[in-house]
Amino acid sequence: MSVLDNIQNKILNSKSILILGHENPDGDSIGSNLALHSALKKININSTVYIPVPDPVYSYLPGYNEIVTGENNLNAKDFDLAIVLDCSDITRLGSTKELFDQIDNSICIDHHITNQNFADISYVNAVASSTCENLIVIFASMGIAVNKEIATSLYTGIITDTGGFRYNVSTETMNFCSMLLETGIEYQKIYRRLFDVTSIGKTKLIARCLDRLELLEDGKIAFSYTTLKDLEELGIEESETEGLVNFGRNIDTVEVSILAKEKDTNSYKISMRANEYVDISLVATKFAGGGHLRASGCNILLPLESVKTSLVEEIKKQLK
Ligand code: 5GP
Ligand code: MN
Repeated sequence: MSVLDNIQNKILNSKSILILGHENPDGDSIGSNLALHSALKKININSTVYIPVPDPVYSYLPGYNEIVTGENNLNAKDFDLAIVLDCSDITRLGSTKELFDQIDNSICIDHHITNQNFADISYVNAVASSTCENLIVIFASMGIAVNKEIATSLYTGIITDTGGFRYNVSTETMNFCSMLLETGIEYQKIYRRLFDVTSIGKTKLIARCLDRLELLEDGKIAFSYTTLKDLEELGIEESETEGLVNFGRNIDTVEVSILAKEKDTNSYKISMRANEYVDISLVATKFAGGGHLRASGCNILLPLESVKTSLVEEIKKQLK
């Protein structure tokens, strides 16, 4: 039996499914969660999407109001299957890991090359732009027709993970998107909401990040950071730091851009982006993180200055 058959059987034999993504969910994580939720509804299978802190940027997604949020009050006994989407390893589940561990059956659908195969059945196609793109294949294999509701969520995942069709795009991605557009999705509104609309707080955070930006190694590495104080003073959520790493990446001399986001005293969440040749997933893996060839992340427990020097040391090995 193929993995697609296995997935279909597992789903069709389940009465109640828990859908999970990764912590600090992006458009692909939340989009895939809600697309699957809508699709299962179409075939009368009960599912629950649990996201402790969803980003209200995605409130236009169909089913957003049905997401179970906040602290975990769910009972693992109420679910016979957990489906984890867009999550490469079990620690990325964050606070939902405990619940996941208590559910007997699991499926993981993902597109990260660093996926750890932690579920009973894993469908990982790292060539796909996004987990949402992989879901299109799963839905097709199950005979679930994609309607406007499902397409809105899938399109959101694809455009977030391709940076608005800038990278990771294949002919298949475009063919799939053509099919999604045929359902009548409001692609202009979705794009504007995801890439253009911002808050005054985020605009001021961009200013601070640009002000702190340093160029290292002959301008090949850009480094900047955000602090907890920034978030407090500007009244913004951690999720609004998304995309800040690209300002460094866009400088003409830069190959690698690093953004260190303070999580606690001497604790930083690192976002890294490469432009042309550095395998940044290799660097992230050295610090127990992971991700993709040109977009990766990790957590480092060190003071800011040491965070910077240890990352630069590692990246230097690959600079031309
Ligand atoms: P971002 O910089 O947007 O947070 O993450 C970029 C990519 O790196 C994401 O696709 C994500 O999967 C991966 N990533 C970020 N942080 C971590 C981490 O701590 N561990 C792993 N394994 N991957 C991460
Ligand atoms: Mn993704």
